[in-house]
Amino acid sequence: MSFSSMAKDELIRLPLGKECCMLSELSALTQTSGSLALRGLGRVQVTYRVENAALARRIFLLLRTRLGITARLHFVQHTRLGGRRSCVLTLGDQDSQTLLLALHMMEQDEEGHIALRRTAPRHPMTRQCCRRAFLRGAFLGCGSVTSPEKGYHFEWVAEDQSLRQTLERLLEKSGLPVHEHVRRGQNVIYLKGAQEITDMLALMGATHAVLEMENIRITKQMRAGANRASNCDEHNSERMLNAADGQIEAIKLISIQRGLFTLPPGLREMARLRLEHTSLSLAELGQLMEPPVGKSGVNHRMRRLMDIANEIRLTLPPVAREGKEERT
Ligand SMILES: [Zn+2]
Repeated sequence: MSFSSMAKDELIRLPLGKECCMLSELSALTQTSGSLALRGLGRVQVTYRVENAALARRIFLLLRTRLGITARLHFVQHTRLGGRRSCVLTLGDQDSQTLLLALHMMEQDEEGHIALRRTAPRHPMTRQCCRRAFLRGAFLGCGSVTSPEKGYHFEWVAEDQSLRQTLERLLEKSGLPVHEHVRRGQNVIYLKGAQEITDMLALMGATHAVLEMENIRITKQMRAGANRASNCDEHNSERMLNAADGQIEAIKLISIQRGLFTLPPGLREMARLRLEHTSLSLAELGQLMEPPVGKSGVNHRMRRLMDIANEIRLTLPPVAREGKEERT
């Protein structure tokens, strides 16, 4: 089973949840897997079409539990697509109307005239529980996640513009960045990097998938660490030590001449860690910072420390400067 199917399988088995959340999940599933057919005289029919029978069952249960709707289920065999089978859930006219009114996808005026609307669902915008339910429903309906063994990529293929806008707003509200691109004419909203994807899996409630992802991530890091260690030849480690020596010397100079307390907090932390861990690389020091700082960030900080030390050197009397030059 692929990592994506595994995560979906886990989500499909989650309890249906609170009344508000059931509606939010149904809203996402209707927008991603549902279709509307206009049948004249203001009648509309909602149909869901999904590949996964367990997902069809979940939609069936959500409809029945939350709205008392019983959908008709049948299967469609695709002769062209290698005999693959789709599950189709069909709602009657009255049930379709009940659903669309509940989801605020339809409005009915006092005279009974009906108008369809494409608006963002209300609950997920204000309630965190519903935000999770909507993101889960959207993932089940149009999402996928790459196996962490191969890479870090999570996406929703969202053709509908209002669905895209809803997802964007929910990601922003969840503190996650929005990445979008068009691939072979399809609009894709995606997450990248292990952290963003783990956050999303946790948000949706896929606890086992999160653990699996963390395990694979740690194994990969250890493997990369072992490779790095064996690639690190004598020359490299010698160069790293020399660099570290120069850095420590610069920091000591700042400390003696001005005091480390005169540095801004970020630089002070950098200086302190460099003095405490003389054998670590700059990238490793970055990982010890709170919060962790990337390689370019630590390089930047170290450069500023070296600049400050150089400024101090220029103000020192010539004798001291010569003494310094002789030592290097
Ligand atoms: Zn809720």
